[in-house]
Amino acid sequence: MNEKQRLEQTAQIKTVDSSDKKSDKDYSKYFDFSGAKVVKQEEGKTTYRLSGRNITINDAPDLAEGKRRGKESINYIDQFEISPELKGMGQGKKFIINTYGCQMNEHDTEVMSGIFIQLGYEPTDTVEDADVILLNTCAIRENAENKVFGEIGHLKPLKKERPDLLIGVCGCMSQEESVVNKILQKHHFIDMIFGTHNIHRLPQILNEAYLSKEMVIEVWSKEGDVIENLPKVRKGSIKGWVNIMYGCDKFCTYCIVPYTRGKERSRRPEEIIHEVRHLASQGYKEITLLGQNVNAYGKDFEDLNYGLGDLMEELSKIDIPRIRFTTSHPRDFDDRLIEVLAKGGNLLDHIHLPVQSGSSEILKLMARKYSREHYLELVGKIKKAIPNASLTTDIIVGFPNETDEQFEETMSLYREVEFDSAYTFIYSPREGTPAAKMEDNIPMEVKKERLQRLNSLVNEISAKKLKEYEGQVVEVLVEGESKNNPDVLAGYTSKSKLVNFRAPRSVIGKVIKVRIIKAKTWTLDGELVEEMVEVN
Ligand code: SF4
Repeated sequence: MNEKQRLEQTAQIKTVDSSDKKSDKDYSKYFDFSGAKVVKQEEGKTTYRLSGRNITINDAPDLAEGKRRGKESINYIDQFEISPELKGMGQGKKFIINTYGCQMNEHDTEVMSGIFIQLGYEPTDTVEDADVILLNTCAIRENAENKVFGEIGHLKPLKKERPDLLIGVCGCMSQEESVVNKILQKHHFIDMIFGTHNIHRLPQILNEAYLSKEMVIEVWSKEGDVIENLPKVRKGSIKGWVNIMYGCDKFCTYCIVPYTRGKERSRRPEEIIHEVRHLASQGYKEITLLGQNVNAYGKDFEDLNYGLGDLMEELSKIDIPRIRFTTSHPRDFDDRLIEVLAKGGNLLDHIHLPVQSGSSEILKLMARKYSREHYLELVGKIKKAIPNASLTTDIIVGFPNETDEQFEETMSLYREVEFDSAYTFIYSPREGTPAAKMEDNIPMEVKKERLQRLNSLVNEISAKKLKEYEGQVVEVLVEGESKNNPDVLAGYTSKSKLVNFRAPRSVIGKVIKVRIIKAKTWTLDGELVEEMVEVN
């Protein structure tokens, strides 16, 4: 549901008569409400009493609805405002958000932190000190979900000790019926559950949870609008994330994202350009453009023929040293983008291009919509246009039906492309996805053995590539002290290689030249080139 549909719905709200069965929402199809009693039904909301706690459902998750792709156009709302009666709600209170998963989630946390600050809350680093705890969750893999349920369990004694503490679960996991059901059944002390499409409704959801003392569930299954000017508290002052689009329409068979993040919606170019300019004027040195499938940027515009290549070309004119983007989908990676990236400048030569498998048959089962040959052809084009490009990738091993030969095709593709590095994963089914209905017929020991072999290859090629840096002078964006040694500074090259070196702290936040003296397993050791040269 988007904001317009929501407002329309609210305008049409009528008090539900329990005899009017047609207008009742049948939550029993999602949740196990045996033993639950309906306490009240009004304004489209239903309140249940379950195991001693009232639970108000404003909107419930529905993955089938999340999958639907309608023709309605996207609404662009260019002003976010907190209603006057909610301002100051957080005076004297503290919040903490624990974030799991991808950069998109990290960035959502920056937005929610901005909303908390506007409400008058202060941030804190410890759950013991917080008045509101949010878990911003990730649904991409089973172990990410297990971690969150572990954390929920740890918070129970705290809530018992301090009943006024508010605990909320948001992010991708909240979009899943099974997760919400598990919380309803086993973790009644949770106060708020909301999803990825309505984080701008945080003030109202908090207010409702405070006033009612009930568990409030508001998970929109239909994607939300594109809302501009949301407040943000950015994590650092050197590197910044900028969302360029939301959602994904690719429906890879193993992936839950198209259900939890909704259909592809691009932000307008002028809004993105304005945000990047603003960050440049504040002294940011690197921008990462974010989207689940950034190469589909602009495809949803009805009035503009404008893609990621066009956007990158315009952004390259902004006076900021580094611009990257993530994540790419090979199917939508077009020649226009390659042509623009080849011009270099502040557009970085590191491309993360998830391949997932080197076998065309497995790619078909994954519904990746490209073949091994198409992927290799694309890599060939990129390497021809940008000979120094560094390529990294994601690979899943042990997808249903993957034979030894098909796994060998992944190994041979990896060798052929010579990726700089890769995120490698063992396939695990995600409930609600088409692949979860396939028989998970590769024994775990085979999956593990394949992963081990692949990782050895990844390490071997990464080490070889790092070795080539020895003696070279590279540009490094200095981010701060090394985690292991405060006397050593650390930063990243344009190709995302971590470099450690000794230098005065005055170079933090600058792009400087460093000579590489030693390649280690994952990192590079360097020395400052005698005279500091700031290259931006
Ligand atoms: S393109 Fe990425 S986010 Fe979209 S369905 Fe495929 S794996 Fe998921």
